[in-house]
Amino acid sequence: MSRTVLFAFAHPDDETFTCGGSIARYADQGNTRLVLYCATRGEAGKTAGVCAPEELGDVRTEELKRAGEILGLDRIILRDHGDGRLKDLPEGMLSRDIGSVIESIKPDVIITFPPHGISGHPDHRAIQKAALQAVLESDRRAFTSLYYVAIPKSVTRTMPRPVHATDDEQITAAIDVTPYRRRIAEALRQHRTQKASIERVFPGVLEGKLEQLRRKEYFQLVIHRGQPVRGTTRSDDWFRSEII
Ligand SMILES: [Zn+2]
Repeated sequence: MSRTVLFAFAHPDDETFTCGGSIARYADQGNTRLVLYCATRGEAGKTAGVCAPEELGDVRTEELKRAGEILGLDRIILRDHGDGRLKDLPEGMLSRDIGSVIESIKPDVIITFPPHGISGHPDHRAIQKAALQAVLESDRRAFTSLYYVAIPKSVTRTMPRPVHATDDEQITAAIDVTPYRRRIAEALRQHRTQKASIERVFPGVLEGKLEQLRRKEYFQLVIHRGQPVRGTTRSDDWFRSEII
């Protein structure tokens, strides 16, 4: 395969919530290797009565595998850095770990959370910081672009609950995911233990109301081939951004 995307997230389900439709789209194109780095097994989350709390890490690992198969991930690199404890890891540990993954899989594009973490979860913020540092310190930075997943302010106005948003002018890629809504819903459904979060963010989607899912997934390009990005023209493809 000619191109590789690395998704750097904190919990099993972050991938489906933030960019499941985009994963499905690139999977269908067939020429892109899609690798997820997930820093924790999500063992501190809710169980929704699916399992005992001490089984949650194992159950969420299986949920993630099933969701990944539906979306079309080629590989999942699952770590056990401690759900809810990423910010307390020794300085540099998480970025070095992500850095070693960058060296080994040589991604062209890396996708992670924005600094505010969208939901504001401290693990989301920690993974952003670590991914950015890993890219900036990587010997491969000249070949790598870093995007943040983003919810534009104009979109959050219509959302049922407040999230941290990104200024619309900073959005550099918008991917139409309407053809993949069924796949996104099916992947969400695999995260059975996270039923409460799914119903909060996408009310009714588990009952088949696909229109509750976003039509587009949005991204902000922040590093392009090792250089900070001030602006780009808006693209619908992570591999085709015109730098201004
Ligand atoms: Zn999360």
